[in-house]
Amino acid sequence: MTGVVAEGEDGFIQINASKGVIVCTGGYGANLEMLDELAPGNSTWCGLTSATGETGDGIRMALWAGAELEAGGGCMVWNRAILPDGFEFDGSRTGGDIFLPGSQPFLHVNIRGERFMNEDQCYPMSFAAGANQPGHYSWIVWDGNYWDDIKQFDTCGCSRLYPAPSGTAFNADVYDCEALTKEHLDSFWLQPRLENGMLKKADTLEGLAEAMGFDAETTETFLATVEHYNELCAKGEDTDFGKPAYRLSDVEAAPFYAARIAGALLVTIHGVITDTNSQPLRADGSVIEGLYVCGNDQGGFYPHNYPSNFTGMNAGRTATFARIAAKHALGVE
Ligand SMILES: Cc1cc2nc3c(=O)[nH]c(=O)nc-3n(C[C@H](O)[C@H](O)[C@H](O)COP(=O)(O)OP(=O)(O)OC[C@H]3O[C@@H](n4cnc5c(N)ncnc54)[C@H](O)[C@@H]3O)c2cc1C
Repeated sequence: MTGVVAEGEDGFIQINASKGVIVCTGGYGANLEMLDELAPGNSTWCGLTSATGETGDGIRMALWAGAELEAGGGCMVWNRAILPDGFEFDGSRTGGDIFLPGSQPFLHVNIRGERFMNEDQCYPMSFAAGANQPGHYSWIVWDGNYWDDIKQFDTCGCSRLYPAPSGTAFNADVYDCEALTKEHLDSFWLQPRLENGMLKKADTLEGLAEAMGFDAETTETFLATVEHYNELCAKGEDTDFGKPAYRLSDVEAAPFYAARIAGALLVTIHGVITDTNSQPLRADGSVIEGLYVCGNDQGGFYPHNYPSNFTGMNAGRTATFARIAAKHALGVE
């Protein structure tokens, strides 16, 4: 690899790179064809995507140069796309809205009104459990005590909604939030979704079931599910799914809330096989000299999934391996 030919507004330019070319174009999250081909299972049931300019160019260029793509198709998917009434998955990964409270471990039920998982899981695992249910989404349900519940849940990383003991304002960079308060949660996250109808609210559980569009039979199942869940919360032991006691919160105090939750695609984390210097390898294991592949274009790091209990891992690995690549290209230790 000796350089790059790039096309700009003034035509083509050639850049001769004597020390190496580092490819890092952010994966293929914005390339629907590549998503359908390479990562169908975990990206299809997303109602939202953050990927805009990541069209997979870097990965395809590396493959054209002889590199190998790792097996499996990993995506980073949040459990925080809120869906409108009548939503249908059409392959565009759009139509939903971002909803940070979707990552709180409140009760989830499927479209039959049944609980189906331990809600206290990594974002992608919780999303995948919902995606495997009929309709490919789930309803998140909570009651009027949500602020106390959120405090009790004490989630960390980018799902945190309650101020940290240190006063740190989580998500200040991503969502332009001020320090987290109940007033902020209500005005920034809840009220706009109540107004556009994506978030349902009712004074009774029967009224909530009606707002969720449940028929009589599903309503009966839903009410029984909530009653049973409340019993588990009272016991402090989730004998059905094993959710830890501090992540159990009953659904008893009006008003009641519910929202459809599906996946929100962040980025792909499935890429080109490299060595530890970030240099791509051919199928026979030989190094493609002069080329480096970093960021989300680089594979081999994840087990086809993003373990989000290690928050910040992707920002960390993309920067770290790019630094290693640059040092190797420059020949410095
Ligand atoms: C909303 C959001 C929140 C996130 N939150 C977290 C988090 O909390 N913790 C964490 O660890 N990770 C998080 N991530 C993931 C992670 O931070 C990013 O995926 C990672 O930093 C991407 O780095 P990158 O260098 O691979 O790609 P990017 O930073 O996306 O850079 C790729 C660049 O390549 C450019 N490009 C694409 N194609 C071409 C081309 N053909 N020619 C020239 N340029 C091209 C793009 O325009 C872009 O500027 C988040 C991602 C998103 C989208």
